[in-house]
Amino acid sequence: MSIYLDNAATTKPCQAAAEAIFYGMLENYGNPSSLHRAGLKAELAVTEARKSIAAALVCDPACVYFTSGATESNNLALFGAAKTYGRRKKKIVSTAVEHSSVENSLKQLEEMGFEVVRVPPRRGGEFDADDLISTVDENTCLISCMMVNNETGCILPIKRVFAAVKREYPECITHCDAVQGFLKLPIKSTELYADMISVSAHKVHGAKGVGALFLKKGVRLSPILYGGGQEKGLRPGTESVPLIMGFGAAVRALLPALNQSARNAGALNSYLRQELSKLSEVSINSPESASPFILNCSVLGFRSETLLHFLEEREIYVSSGSACSKGAKSTVLKEFGATDREVDSALRISLSRESTKGEIDALIKGIRDAQATLAKAR
Ligand code: PMP
Repeated sequence: MSIYLDNAATTKPCQAAAEAIFYGMLENYGNPSSLHRAGLKAELAVTEARKSIAAALVCDPACVYFTSGATESNNLALFGAAKTYGRRKKKIVSTAVEHSSVENSLKQLEEMGFEVVRVPPRRGGEFDADDLISTVDENTCLISCMMVNNETGCILPIKRVFAAVKREYPECITHCDAVQGFLKLPIKSTELYADMISVSAHKVHGAKGVGALFLKKGVRLSPILYGGGQEKGLRPGTESVPLIMGFGAAVRALLPALNQSARNAGALNSYLRQELSKLSEVSINSPESASPFILNCSVLGFRSETLLHFLEEREIYVSSGSACSKGAKSTVLKEFGATDREVDSALRISLSRESTKGEIDALIKGIRDAQATLAKAR
């Protein structure tokens, strides 16, 4: 049995999601836009899933728009808002540690004439809400801030930042990439002061290739794709009914156990920290206050890839950083204050509701064996 500790990259689909997808493909293959009964049945399935996502975000189902994943949700949020609200106001505020789907969209927006200000974390790897709040001014059309960093698990003070921004500049649009927080931290769209929230199914035991964007009523986005009238014209293209059904099923399976799985992850995370601290030359790059589901550490003197492959030989899967940057050196970790040496030897261990103490023990043993047998990188 392999030990999968790379849940920030993706999670194993749960039984309920896999069954819903299977059923959706074989038994509910109509096009939701078709006027006959098969079409209606597919439309009803999409409506059902929309209600489930809305229940998890605590919002009206009419505010949930299905996309092909959080990369698309983030692109739609940023370009869609910049086009509508950025005609005169040209400033966008974000952080220096966003996922590439936000960061590379921001780079593109800079090329289109926007001024982007990226706020870094303070020393110690945490964000100060005031640093973000004070960067927003009357020229700012949009603030985009992730909820939980995918490399360190750092939790950003979204609620405080967005509440203050909305109080001071009600017209500034607020967007949160909540991919690593969704169904891990309690999220209430009503309390977050977010106009837009991006989520992805494959991080919550659904399938890859489906996600959603929460869009608050009254916020007007320009589409980034043009086609039919699906998703009220905001995201045209025939809905991926099976994947959407799987997303709904995964959310229904996870939502009732949210608090319990966060408690389990908390206990495992503390245990992992405690066991790592017993090893020599291991530093922990995630702040104490980080999400319990993600722990980033550096086994000093060993390159991340070397260690990763050593562990892989024992069927223990962890990651060297963000899966989306495929081995490229993490600039995000540097922003969090890691030294070059720490970045070179960083490992991201990410838990799921299924992770166990036995798996952590096997990982620790694996790291200890690696330290004993592998030659140190010079
Ligand atoms: N944002 C964050 C914080 C992520 O961790 C990821 C997935 N690595 C994404 C966005 C992109 O999500 P998707 O894979 O659904 O496009």
